[in-house]
Amino acid sequence: MEKRVSEMKFCFCGEKKDSRVKPLRVAIIGAGPAGLSAACSLACDGFDVHVYDKMPEPGGMVAFGIPEWRIPISKVRQAVKEIEELGVVFHMRTKVVYDSPKELGDEFAERFVSLEKLMKEYDAILIATGAWRPRILDIPGKELKGVENALQLLLRINLARIGYLPQTKMPSFEGKRVVVIGAGYTAVDVAKEAKLLGAKSVTIAYRRSLQDSYAKNEFKKLIKEGVKFLEYVTPVRIFGDENVREVEFAKTKVVRGSVITTEEKRTIPADVIIFAIGQIPTNPIKEVLCSNEDILKNAGIFFAGDVISPRNIGTAIREGRKVAEEIKAWLTEHAFLNIRLSYPVSLRDISKSATQC
Ligand SMILES: Cc1cc2nc3c(=O)[nH]c(=O)nc-3n(C[C@H](O)[C@H](O)[C@H](O)COP(=O)(O)OP(=O)(O)OC[C@H]3O[C@@H](n4cnc5c(N)ncnc54)[C@H](O)[C@@H]3O)c2cc1C
Repeated sequence: MEKRVSEMKFCFCGEKKDSRVKPLRVAIIGAGPAGLSAACSLACDGFDVHVYDKMPEPGGMVAFGIPEWRIPISKVRQAVKEIEELGVVFHMRTKVVYDSPKELGDEFAERFVSLEKLMKEYDAILIATGAWRPRILDIPGKELKGVENALQLLLRINLARIGYLPQTKMPSFEGKRVVVIGAGYTAVDVAKEAKLLGAKSVTIAYRRSLQDSYAKNEFKKLIKEGVKFLEYVTPVRIFGDENVREVEFAKTKVVRGSVITTEEKRTIPADVIIFAIGQIPTNPIKEVLCSNEDILKNAGIFFAGDVISPRNIGTAIREGRKVAEEIKAWLTEHAFLNIRLSYPVSLRDISKSATQC
């Protein structure tokens, strides 16, 4: 299990291996832990690295999703400065698009650049765009006022704390009965925020047991602070007129590792229901992950971090460093063979190859 973090370091240059500037250019899409650690590693070896991100400053979820009281923005800025000093160029408030739908955080983008344009201008591309689409259960009542998703709330709270949104955007849970669905890091953070922002009561509802949650130690602390934890339940319906009034749960049981919903029901009163049941990877070209690996390699497109599947900071950093080594090898091989480094494969070809999966 990954230890929750309070220190930040994305850059592990060591002794600068090769300070001669190489003519090879790499575009990294996403300035989260994966993109930043890759940027550092490539810049350490003298590659010309440009990072594109739709948000106002680098850091990804660590800057904007994880609460400021856990990882202060000053620590993230310090860690990013180290990478800027290596000559990495950051293009912030710039969303890279191909067939991307509207996603969380898009309101901060002031410029839009197509993936195809980057493919023409750079010798390799790293997609490290994370998982910025929250999952919501499709149950009756999900459209009622008071039904929220944790990621959107946490982003709003953090952005208001850091000063990118006015204080009027800070949600208030004053006197409210809050029910959080889910038992991961996001559920822990949003439950704590709800308490800090005045909730009368906070209840966590999970379809497995407390023991099954990888954040169980944090939940145990929250339980000591008065948060309730309901095990083996899943919401099946939300009741209310305009606003949420109560939520109906079905009892669950775990059979050979799978969660089964039973007929047994219970209802609890609630003013706010917050879904914290995970995020979906947000890739600028959604088919790309199920495309033929060779086609992608030929196209010089690489991936790292939560965009592959949502996990944690340590994994994202490790993957960023690992993929940077693969990019270096790929670029060196192509440069050595004096192959034209513009892409022989188009994004349309990639899309077509993906229809088979
Ligand atoms: C609330 C919360 C709490 C968490 N707590 C922990 C914890 O305690 N410990 C832990 O280890 N992990 C935790 N995690 C998980 C951790 O934050 C992620 O695993 C990690 O940030 C993934 O890094 P990444 O670089 O892959 O993606 P991200 O950090 O998500 O960065 C992706 C970047 O890509 C940018 N982007 C996306 N699409 C585009 C586009 N089309 N164009 C330009 N830019 C784009 C985004 O703006 C973002 O900056 C938590 C996550 C959340 C949401």
